[in-house]
Amino acid sequence: MTEKQYGGSTGRSNGEKAVTTKNLDSSKSLPKQKTQKDSSQKLGTSKTDEDEIIQAGKIASQVKSFAKTIVKAGIPLLEIAEKIETKILELGGNPAFPVNLSINNIAAHYTPSHEDETLAKGLIKVDFGVHIDGWTADTAFSVDLEDSEENKNLIKASEDGLNAALELIQSRLGRAGGALSTSEIGAEISKTIESHGFFPVINLSGHGMNQYELHSGTSIPNVDDGRDTEISEGLYAIEPFATNGSGRIRDGKPSEIYELISEKNLRSPIAREVLNFIKEEYDALPFCSRWLIKKFGTKALFGLKQLEENGNLHQFSQLVEIAGSKVSQAEHTILIEKEKVTVTTN
Ligand code: MN
Ligand code: MN
Repeated sequence: MTEKQYGGSTGRSNGEKAVTTKNLDSSKSLPKQKTQKDSSQKLGTSKTDEDEIIQAGKIASQVKSFAKTIVKAGIPLLEIAEKIETKILELGGNPAFPVNLSINNIAAHYTPSHEDETLAKGLIKVDFGVHIDGWTADTAFSVDLEDSEENKNLIKASEDGLNAALELIQSRLGRAGGALSTSEIGAEISKTIESHGFFPVINLSGHGMNQYELHSGTSIPNVDDGRDTEISEGLYAIEPFATNGSGRIRDGKPSEIYELISEKNLRSPIAREVLNFIKEEYDALPFCSRWLIKKFGTKALFGLKQLEENGNLHQFSQLVEIAGSKVSQAEHTILIEKEKVTVTTN
């Protein structure tokens, strides 16, 4: 599932937009950073990288506080997503993927379409990313919008799972000579979630991150998956999901969240124009149709369709719980350095 996830949980993530005067197209351009990366872009080689990682985390933390004040029952998801994405820009960051606002049995990868009329309700997961120069702070929280005891318990379970994982990581790697495997983290998360009477979602996982790369290869499972991959220095997202259902997710509807997978040329002028914009603005980070419509109008949809058919883009699916049961999520980003662990999104 790691290829399926982008940001929220399994893999990659989604994007942003603008509510007032800021458009992601014009107001914020990414530095020209391409999919081919040289070794100097690897984490840990420069003080600048660390500063950008920390700064992205601080912005994400502020955005999270803001987001908690605007996520209310009956508010259009479109309005919430746009306000969050605008706030990220106002604070000097860039959305690393479209804001995910996933309700009840949708675990991840729901971002509002440009004319979405869905209203916030139920158990909602708010998952967003802030990047500076491609270094991402990926974070998520869940809110109960229907005064449900079960929702609150599910939320507590994923939050406690996350905190238990962070404490374990800190105690082992925040000192000299410590070692920790990914499966030990997964075991800690599942033990904690199960102590609340729920299940972790076993086919969604946390992930390593690199510059302009939301999933760098290392998976941080939410169960003991039997892999003894030792955690090394680097940037990671830890993200437990708790459910009262089966503990597995499957692909749902198309999400309108995309990722560039090939730059191969094509004939259609609008498709080419959209492709060039995607390369400049998002590189390999996820984006959504809503953002492109801001720039090109609804003809962007035509360009996206052609790009998808031509194999330039991968479109992510919504991720839904198999039994149709509710899912909660909590997520923080951590920077692991020599004998030092920093939760960047605190
Ligand atoms: Mn993530
Ligand atoms: Mn996320």
